[in-house]
Amino acid sequence: MTGQDLPRIATEVPGPRSRALAERLAAVECAEVTWQGPPAPLFWKRGLGANLVDVDGNRFVDLCAGFGAAALGYAHPALVAALSAQAGELQHAMGDVFPAEVKVQLLETLARVLPHGLGSAILSSSGSDAVESALKTALVATGKPGVIAFEGAYHGLGFGSLDATWRDDFRRPFLARLAGQTRFVPWGDADAARRAARAGDVGAILFEPIQGRGGLVFPPRGFLAELRAIADECGVLLVADEVYTGLGRTGRWLACEHEGVIPDVVALGKALGGGFPISACVGRAEVMRRWPASQGEALHTSTHLGNPLGCAAALAVLETFERESLVTRADEVGARWQALLGKRIGGNARVRELRGRGLLVALEFDDAAFARAAAGRLLRAGWVVLGEGPENRVLALTPPLTIAERLLEAAAEELAEALK
Ligand code: PMP
Repeated sequence: MTGQDLPRIATEVPGPRSRALAERLAAVECAEVTWQGPPAPLFWKRGLGANLVDVDGNRFVDLCAGFGAAALGYAHPALVAALSAQAGELQHAMGDVFPAEVKVQLLETLARVLPHGLGSAILSSSGSDAVESALKTALVATGKPGVIAFEGAYHGLGFGSLDATWRDDFRRPFLARLAGQTRFVPWGDADAARRAARAGDVGAILFEPIQGRGGLVFPPRGFLAELRAIADECGVLLVADEVYTGLGRTGRWLACEHEGVIPDVVALGKALGGGFPISACVGRAEVMRRWPASQGEALHTSTHLGNPLGCAAALAVLETFERESLVTRADEVGARWQALLGKRIGGNARVRELRGRGLLVALEFDDAAFARAAAGRLLRAGWVVLGEGPENRVLALTPPLTIAERLLEAAAEELAEALK
């Protein structure tokens, strides 16, 4: 396997080994976690480049980069080497007390690659954690607890981030524990955002530059710049949740850059560790300085903050992005792929809209059942795509930024076939 191979499916999908593992898992994992089907879940055994192999030996092409995390693809030699070397040297350090050397190298590199001024960070493990850090930063920096977020937003499921996550099914069971400090405004409605920001207690405008789990929903042109202006006008922090869109995915380091907008604080996750769980809240120095200096115990930290394996992984990811010009590649390859997809499936009567930026592409259907059926057909043919948005009517195509164009061309043919 080269890592850039076409699918090869030898059993039904899922195969017998996946089915057996699903049963064993159900006996020992809380039932709320893994969807038991139908169809039953697949279990992965191995990943290389854009390919994933399941426990039955079927080979897939991952067109969603494992929720966007596997930006370098799987088992990229630079990432494997960095993790192996770090594992042999130091696997754990002491978070906010005695950190590892590699944390400094990572944070310096992050400050260098991010747009101007985003240079002071709080590390963490998940995307939701990074949003929690950003929300705490906004309260500390402004003294105002209110948050403006947007209908359709997804920011994670911790109690802070969940308070700003729109979807009712995630919120309802926990409403009694939510702070209720979020005002939701229609996505794209700058007037409503301005009105809400003028209310006295708002400390942050929290937004995804392109809503991810909401269905890859783009804002109207100029909207992010308006949010920047509103934040400045009202003394509110502009907090970009770029957990999904950040780090090259859209052909810029940050998706905000497409509109020339630099947020005060940005949340990063997913691609940062290339599959290793590490995330970061990064802000402008003058904002992050509003946190009081540590008095010997950090106000906001965790045991694994700055874990050396995570830092080594993220450092390797960022260095590989630079060495292989992956941000530019996402921009150029993404534009060519979108043009090709437009030709092959753009005119399909079932497709409501094909939209994208860089290697973040959305295929939206009118008929949610058809969208789900198409995702199923693709999976059985060996192509992994993700359903997003209301009723999963959007297929999210966010392949590894290293994927061969040959595979993207084949994927376009396969999509055309699956939509017939
Ligand atoms: N923010 C956004 C925009 C996301 O897409 C996600 C995850 N899909 C999160 C936050 C939460 O990240 P995690 O699942 O790593 O906690």
